[in-house]
Amino acid sequence: MLQLPSLKIADTCETRFILFDDLKLLWMEARGANTVEDQSPEPESSVKHDNGSAGRGEKSHENIDDGNMAADTPVILVVDANVRHLHREKLDQVFPAKSTRYFEVPPGEESKSVATWNRIIDFAFSGPLRRNTPLVAVGGGVTGDLAGFAAAGLMRGLPLYHIPTTLLAMVDSAVGGKTGINHAFGKNTIGAFYHPKAVLFDTAFLDTLPQREWLCGISEVLKYGYIADPRLLDQATTLADPASRSQNLLGEVIEQSVRIKSEVVAEDARESGRRAWLNFGHTFGHALETQDNYCNINHGEAVYAGMIAALCVSRKLGYNVSDKPLLEMKNTYQLDLGAYTSAVDRLVTLMTQDKKNRDNSIRLVLVKEHGRPCLHPVNNRNLLKEAWQYTFKALS
Ligand code: ADP
Ligand code: ZN
Repeated sequence: MLQLPSLKIADTCETRFILFDDLKLLWMEARGANTVEDQSPEPESSVKHDNGSAGRGEKSHENIDDGNMAADTPVILVVDANVRHLHREKLDQVFPAKSTRYFEVPPGEESKSVATWNRIIDFAFSGPLRRNTPLVAVGGGVTGDLAGFAAAGLMRGLPLYHIPTTLLAMVDSAVGGKTGINHAFGKNTIGAFYHPKAVLFDTAFLDTLPQREWLCGISEVLKYGYIADPRLLDQATTLADPASRSQNLLGEVIEQSVRIKSEVVAEDARESGRRAWLNFGHTFGHALETQDNYCNINHGEAVYAGMIAALCVSRKLGYNVSDKPLLEMKNTYQLDLGAYTSAVDRLVTLMTQDKKNRDNSIRLVLVKEHGRPCLHPVNNRNLLKEAWQYTFKALS
């Protein structure tokens, strides 16, 4: 790991996938032969402030250098607080205090808020900032989405770097350019497509990841198994169990997942066609998360159940697919969905309200055979109810 072509969205927009260890090389290249250590912060902000109000005056940006990445401002590092504490030594080595401004994100979905986004904006303007100041996001999907959205807006776009530290972020959320925060109206309802310059991988971060978070990433790998490469089904099963995990296999699986996601994204940067395949299991899963109020079931668990339901619909429509690889992992996931069995009708209603639907019919991603997805409009509520009932029974 990691031998990947970069993800090219347009002539001016390309994401590179590299090893964390190569960060310094990238930095030297980007900043004109200086290493991060060589960069010391400017004594005062390069953005002039109006009476201390963090960067509100538009005039204050007049003298900003628009040049390429020869930034002489410290890096803004937006890092998940747990990750900062668990991997302090490693991070301090690569991002020393003299050339880095640390912003810690409190762990949890609540941080994907307008309030935290605003705090990052204020923080960015409270010190030296130029259009070429790099913003580095270190953490899982929450930190990546939040920091990415801040990077997209600051000075109309700071160069963004992702260092994903959860399996889910490595195989999914750090790839593809989606950034965003939540609003009372719904999850991820404020956001932008904004592609990072590079995504930096280091599986050593995963050594501290709790098993439940680990399984969140495994669900997305299983998804890639069903929509693109069936070999991933077995491989994900092996990785799910801590006793049978190996670094080689992990590297292989991350690499293949990143490749699949970036190929789909490159072909369909705006979610009109193929990108929808990435929603396999998610239409069912989102309904479950909403019904649960995002309390007890996490995203990966909801998607795991959602894939079982989507495969059930696929079979009912005549496709020859099996949920055996998923059901074999039932004891690993240990999902208790007993509380939702009486909410089947409501779950189907929630599915009809999914923001990705068109023309009032649910567009479900189904699987024709392992590795071959298709998009199918489904209007038959009973079919969806049966799929939920089957899933609850199979996981009970
Ligand atoms: P996801 O990537 O699944 O969207 P989050 O960003 O919400 O996840 O992170 C999930 C949880 O895992 C958070 O509590 C976060 O602090 C924690 N976390 C992230 N990376 C690591 C890591 N490498 N080791 C331990 N905990 C981590
Ligand atoms: Zn997902």
